[in-house]
Amino acid sequence: MSTHLRVDLDAIRGNIARIRATVAPAGLMLVVKDDAYGHGLGPIVRTAAAAGVEWFGAFDVRTGSAVRAELGSRARIFAWIAASREDLEVAIADELDLGIGDSALLEDLADAARSASTPARVHLKIDTGLHRNGVRPENWPGFVTRAAELEADGTIDVVGVWSHIAEASDADDDDARTIFDWAIAHARRVGLRPSMRHLAASAAAFARPEFRYDMVRVGAFCYGIRSAGGPSATDLGLVPAASLNADVVSVEDDAVTIGIGALDGVPSSLAGLAEVGTPDGARRLMSVDTASRVETWPGAAVGDVVTVYGAGDRGESSATDLAEIIGTIGEEIAVRVSPLVPREYVGG
Ligand SMILES: *Cc1c(COP(=O)(O)O)cnc(C)c1O
Repeated sequence: MSTHLRVDLDAIRGNIARIRATVAPAGLMLVVKDDAYGHGLGPIVRTAAAAGVEWFGAFDVRTGSAVRAELGSRARIFAWIAASREDLEVAIADELDLGIGDSALLEDLADAARSASTPARVHLKIDTGLHRNGVRPENWPGFVTRAAELEADGTIDVVGVWSHIAEASDADDDDARTIFDWAIAHARRVGLRPSMRHLAASAAAFARPEFRYDMVRVGAFCYGIRSAGGPSATDLGLVPAASLNADVVSVEDDAVTIGIGALDGVPSSLAGLAEVGTPDGARRLMSVDTASRVETWPGAAVGDVVTVYGAGDRGESSATDLAEIIGTIGEEIAVRVSPLVPREYVGG
C-alpha cells in the first residue's frame, strides 16, 4: 500500500513565476503556514528561494524560525502570530519581521529588543474590518506615534504597514483599502517611512491591481489552489502542484478498494459525490472509510494508482473542485492530508 502526496516542484516554480509576472512591480511574499499548505515546508521554501523569492510569510514564530533554519540569513521572514515573551525573543534572535497589531505587544517587543540590544523589525497592522488582531482606526494615531518614538530611539525598525482583507466582496475590500490608505498616510505624517505596504492575498493579488502596493502575500495560488467559486486554474495560468495518490489494494465486481481513507485526510462527506482519477479516466468515489472504494474500470488491477485530487491529468478533481462539493475551500482539503502520508517530490 503506497499512499502518497506527490508534489511537483516544477509546478510550484511555474506558479511562482506566473504570480511574480502578474503582480510586478509589486513583490511576492510566499505564505507557508500549515507546513506550506500541507506540501512540506523545507522543499517548498528551498525551491522558492532558488527561484528568487525573498519574502516568506510564516504565520507563527516557530514556522519563521524553521524557515530561517532552512534558508539562512538571505531570506526575509514575516511572522504575524507571537504568543509569548519567548516568541518575541526568538523572533529578534532569528531576525524575523513581526506583524504587530496591538499596543501592549508593541511595548513587549520594544522591551525584548532593548534587552537583546537589537532593533526589532516591525510591520504595523491596521484593522481594516476583519477584526483579527489589528489596531482599530480610532487607536491608530496613538499607536503610530508611539512606534515613531520607538523607531527614533533605535528600538524598532518600522519596515511595513499591513492588513488582511476578506476577499469575499469587492465593496468590503474597497472599504478596507480606504482605511488602509488612511492608515499609511497617518503613519507617514508622524514620520514613519514604511517601505513594505501589503494588503492582498491570492485572489486580490490577481483580480485587483490597486491592492498590490509593495508586496502581496500569496499562499494558495503558489500551490495552484484556485479560489472556491473563482476563476479556473487554467484561466489564472496556474497548475495544482500536489496530487494525492493511493494504490488499488483489491478489485471487486463493481468497485476497487484503495489504500486511502478518512484517517489520511479524505473527507468522508465526499463519498458518492467526487470524481477521482484512474488509469482509465474519471471514476466516482463510492465510499470513504479507513479505506475507500472507487467505481471500477476495464482491466483494473491491484497496484493500479488512483488519484484522489490533483492537476486533472487522469480525470481527477482538483482540491478546490472537491472543496466546492462540500462547501469549503481548497486550502482545507490540502491541509487535511495527514502528516503521516509520505510526501514525494518531483522536479525542482
Ligand atoms: C493565509 C494568509 C495569506 C495567504 O492567503 P491565500 O489566500 O492562501 O493566498 C495572506 N495573509 C495572511 C495574513 C494569511 O493568514
